[in-house]
Amino acid sequence: VAVVIIACPCALGLATPISVMSTTGRAAQKGVLFKDAEAIEALSKVNTLIIDKTGTLTEGKPSLKEIKLLTDDVQHIQVETWIASIEQHSTHPIAKTLTKLVPEDQLLSTQDFEDVFGFGVKAKVDGQWLYVGSQKLIETMRLSLNDSLIQILDQQRREGNVISFIANDQQVLAYMSIHDAIKHNAKAVIHQLLSDGVEVIMATGDHEQNASVVAETLGIQQFFANCTPQDKLDLVKNIQAEGKVVAMAGDGINDAPALAQANIGIAMGNGTDIAMESGDIVVMEGDLENVVAAVQFSKKVMTRIKENLFWAFAYNVILIPLAAGALYAGFGIMFMPEWSALAMALSSVTVISLSLALK
Ligand code: ADP
Ligand code: MG
Repeated sequence: VAVVIIACPCALGLATPISVMSTTGRAAQKGVLFKDAEAIEALSKVNTLIIDKTGTLTEGKPSLKEIKLLTDDVQHIQVETWIASIEQHSTHPIAKTLTKLVPEDQLLSTQDFEDVFGFGVKAKVDGQWLYVGSQKLIETMRLSLNDSLIQILDQQRREGNVISFIANDQQVLAYMSIHDAIKHNAKAVIHQLLSDGVEVIMATGDHEQNASVVAETLGIQQFFANCTPQDKLDLVKNIQAEGKVVAMAGDGINDAPALAQANIGIAMGNGTDIAMESGDIVVMEGDLENVVAAVQFSKKVMTRIKENLFWAFAYNVILIPLAAGALYAGFGIMFMPEWSALAMALSSVTVISLSLALK
């Protein structure tokens, strides 16, 4: 490399940045934004992808199927208003749907809104603390769900529905059954990644049963459910400790630490700002096919950079001895300075053309 830099600086100083620029430009047109060149190199070596479920493998545009009251102490409209009023402050994909439960002018003001470990949200409304989130949130609050209800919920989940709850400090008030479809191309994308030799692991904050339905549908062998942001982060660290190059794909607040820790963080462009801030690559519209495209772009550019170094090296290895008079002693052939100029220009044209061809 040192010889190439001295003899033909254009191979590294020009052709490499041009390769990177052509690729990032082409990728951007397709909807893949590389934030830095290091991400390209890291991605070309990736062998494990940890992928989030809600909003990444699923559409993240959920539709509400029903809200079922679990107590006589509250009325339907009251619960809807509370849910919508809290969710208006949340960035979770489910929240966008739930905010529309009541017209905007009927939303109540809330105090002390907060995300709870990726399992949901809480805020003070009408003078009481209200919590909206997953079963894990309810369990952490030590509120109980009776056995017959759990069976109903299990059935709902087997049908692919996500269940969220609303509770106050004393009791669970209602559950919501929400349908969030799996992205139409998710199965093909997972299949492609697996056949490209990338191990795929799903990590979700959602319930075990929802996770297993999605994993089974998509052919994902390994998954982790009920993950906190810390769990997702630890998972990335553990797999890195096995010597793997880890990409993490996600969309939510709860993915941000893992996105930052992974060798390559891939953020869904329809996700939260903090995910996009933490990732090295942003996939516009959250199109999963672009995750595969990003891996392919990165492999292509790394191959091209190495090819360029080969060409630069080959030109120099052959022509420097010739220019220095290697053929003069034996054959009396002088290498003319004009030929040097031509060869030099040709080598630059070769590597730069190859780099631009990436586009
Ligand atoms: P993933 O890790 O797959 O993206 P999340 O951690 O975002 O999943 O969500 C897991 C579950 O937590 C959701 O399916 C939902 O039940 C619940 N949840 C999280 N945030 C909210 C919220 N703002 N409102 C309602 N439910 C929520
Ligand atoms: Mg998510």
